[in-house]
Amino acid sequence: MLVRLLAPTGRVSFLIRLVLVMLLIGAMNYGRDRYLSPYNGYDGYWNNFFEAAIIAAPFSYLSLAMVGHLNSLQLRLAHLAGTDVLTGLANRRAFMERAGAAVGDGGVFMMIDADHFKMINDRYGHDVGDVFLRAIADHIKSEVRKDDLCARFGGEEFAVFMPQAARADALALGQRLAAGVRVTPEHTAVEVHVTCSVGAAAAGPNEELAAVIRAADQALYQAKAAGRARLVLWDNRPPTDTSSAAA
Ligand code: GH3
Ligand code: MG
Ligand code: MG
Repeated sequence: MLVRLLAPTGRVSFLIRLVLVMLLIGAMNYGRDRYLSPYNGYDGYWNNFFEAAIIAAPFSYLSLAMVGHLNSLQLRLAHLAGTDVLTGLANRRAFMERAGAAVGDGGVFMMIDADHFKMINDRYGHDVGDVFLRAIADHIKSEVRKDDLCARFGGEEFAVFMPQAARADALALGQRLAAGVRVTPEHTAVEVHVTCSVGAAAAGPNEELAAVIRAADQALYQAKAAGRARLVLWDNRPPTDTSSAAA
């Protein structure tokens, strides 16, 4: 916290802080001269003020540079600790923290699971599987609204939380995500379509995130059982299968 407060954010802020630290040290020296040893017969208080400030310059410079470096390392570490390396999305830990804070105001949570993903790995190899996971992540990023939270939950599972979302918006997004991605793997000439099953649940007033996730899990299970490539919404009523086949 102190490091963040003191850390310079640019050249100008570095210079301002440097001058402030130098002046502070000069003032401390002035105070010491003036009040702690006033009878030393020496009256160049201001001269000593500037002398101390100038002597402090290289040490202040070094300290500020170190604080700045420490701050950028801390920010980078915090970013890495909350990011999924493969997709660049938030990871489960970061998502749970942010969604947990937002869920009290209501919203819709979605669990998105790639369909028959084991087959993709078996047929094209793990590396190509990773390409598909990145494509699904990019698809999610491009479809969500600015304030929506999204994450790779683990394996081939992703999560989205839409704070204060209208049911119709959530349904539309869930259906677009269920449509999945089309990728032409390297060394093959064919486009491969990977669909997703989506389980969604609306958060009731002051409902715990864990309970909403359990409901979305149930909905996801139903989406898989009903044939995959679809969204099932669970909103405290019997789940609604929104695929065109079920209509
Ligand atoms: P379902 O439609 O029922 O979800 O079938 P599925 O094959 O997607 O589900 P299953 O749980 O059987 O298999 C998930 C697969 O996801 C198996 C695992 O190897 C793969 N997977 C998990 N994490 C990664 C990853 O980081 N990279 C790659 N390439 N594959 C992964
Ligand atoms: Mg899965
Ligand atoms: Mg799967």
